[in-house]
Amino acid sequence: MYVFRTFSAEETESLGEKLGSFLDPGDVLCLYGDLGAGKTVFARGVARGLGIENHVTSPTFTLINEYQGRLPLYHMDVFRLCSPQEMEDLGYEEYLYGSGVTLVEWADIVLQILPHERLDITIARSQEGDDSREITLAPLGDRYRRLVEELMAVVHPGH
Ligand code: ADP
Ligand code: MG
Repeated sequence: MYVFRTFSAEETESLGEKLGSFLDPGDVLCLYGDLGAGKTVFARGVARGLGIENHVTSPTFTLINEYQGRLPLYHMDVFRLCSPQEMEDLGYEEYLYGSGVTLVEWADIVLQILPHERLDITIARSQEGDDSREITLAPLGDRYRRLVEELMAVVHPGH
């Protein structure tokens, strides 16, 4: 587990951007955290790190938005998911096991369909109610352990 602290939306986006620059085809990022924690802000950074220039907005009502950058990005937000069938209808496996990057907001809602190997990212607001956020990265599997090491090397050199 790796814990980062950010003090503004810009810093969270920048962390996402750095992560985005190291992503490989097939990578799966799962975001957890309350409404307003900063999941979409982080996703925006990931998109930027993938070279995507579109403005990234929350796919709350569409379930998924697709973007094309250095790699395709499949940005899902399953907050309003009504039934597991909706995920089936979406053809979620094509995304999760495809050759783009998949990022899922509210991943806890669809935990049972997530791949075992993935990067879990939890964003928590501070108790003080200020702009700081605690961002915990929990890599599952060797690929994601290496990914987080790469990120650490640029964010906290010599950790
Ligand atoms: P979520 O997708 O988790 O519901 P959003 O990313 O849409 O949340 O919104 C996060 C809100 O919190 C934005 O308005 C953003 O400007 C604000 N914010 C303040 N500080 C931070 C921070 N350190 N990291 C991320 N967002 C922050
Ligand atoms: Mg969101």
